[in-house]
Amino acid sequence: MTEYKIALMPGDGIGPELTEATLKILDAIQENFDVNLNLLPAEAGDTVLKKDGAALPEESLKVIRESHACLKGPVGETAADVIVKLRLLFDLYANVRPIKAFPNVPVARPDIDMIFVRENTEDVYKGLEYRIGDDVTVCLRVITRQNCERIAKRAFETAKLRPKKKVTAIHKANVMRITDGLFKRVCQETAKNYPDIQYNEMYVDAATMHLIRTPQDFDVLCTCNMFGDILSDEAAQLIGGLGMAPGANIGDNFALFEPIHGSAPDIAGKQIANPISMILSAKMMLTWLGERFNDSKCLRAAEAIEKATVQTLINGVTVPDLGGKASTLQMAQAIAAVIKI
Ligand code: ATP
Repeated sequence: MTEYKIALMPGDGIGPELTEATLKILDAIQENFDVNLNLLPAEAGDTVLKKDGAALPEESLKVIRESHACLKGPVGETAADVIVKLRLLFDLYANVRPIKAFPNVPVARPDIDMIFVRENTEDVYKGLEYRIGDDVTVCLRVITRQNCERIAKRAFETAKLRPKKKVTAIHKANVMRITDGLFKRVCQETAKNYPDIQYNEMYVDAATMHLIRTPQDFDVLCTCNMFGDILSDEAAQLIGGLGMAPGANIGDNFALFEPIHGSAPDIAGKQIANPISMILSAKMMLTWLGERFNDSKCLRAAEAIEKATVQTLINGVTVPDLGGKASTLQMAQAIAAVIKI
């Protein structure tokens, strides 16, 4: 049986609680699906910065480099020093964020099922900001053909595997004519290679409106870095909040899985955070391992996590965020119990 080395980064705020909860699921998976995960601690974030003087210590980077994948909780104030850096270091160019309505959760519509494929390494998040005197500041927006090509390809490849088979490219090319003009042109060129996929475009302001008005019409949303970040947080509110939204940062040779939300310090330590965002991130990790290493056991385990989550929600076990009374850990234990049946 293949042993998968997984760098485990609990993070800050609600991160350690979500990690503890997710480990219950991974224990159940290992017991029931013949999948062997070697979870290796890799600390990063505010707590380790205070303790050791670095938000992303070299030791943690070494663990990540030697792992097959990384499972990460949210990081607090030092997020830019951790996740933005990891995305660049490991060239994790695709940020994949599924937004799907689950039963027994307060959702805008039950037929919401979309997925963001967001460029993850450039745009205004490159951090190229400058001061010109005291009162004038500048931020550079970097958009390259290479990154547009690979994110567009990833979006269309994702759409190929989904029932609706539709890609919506989101931009503001009427104003940012050069940068978003390039993104738009590359999306249009890529669309020509996928005649079976329906392709359309939307200005980002219109997309914010359509997400609220007709969210069921979206399938794959292909975006640059910042628009995807903002729109996916908005979209998460349609399916029960950030606690329902998992994410993956995917490169050609490595991938890192994490909830889309931050460390939520307002609810940290209270055992009321919704663990589903991180549990479904672990599910995405197993799917990725299964596809990358051609391992059907991982693929079956991934499916089992989602099915058990659905069943647990149907059984009425939910955290306060979703209207229930279960703690973060109790919810995870209930999901793990369904996996074990
Ligand atoms: P960041 O800037 O790092 O993204 P933020 O302060 O903008 O962080 P988040 O931490 O992402 O905000 O979360 C915003 C709010 O959403 C939190 O304050 C919290 O109330 C809620 N929230 C986030 N994640 C969860 C979760 N897993 N379960 C329940 N509520 C959550």
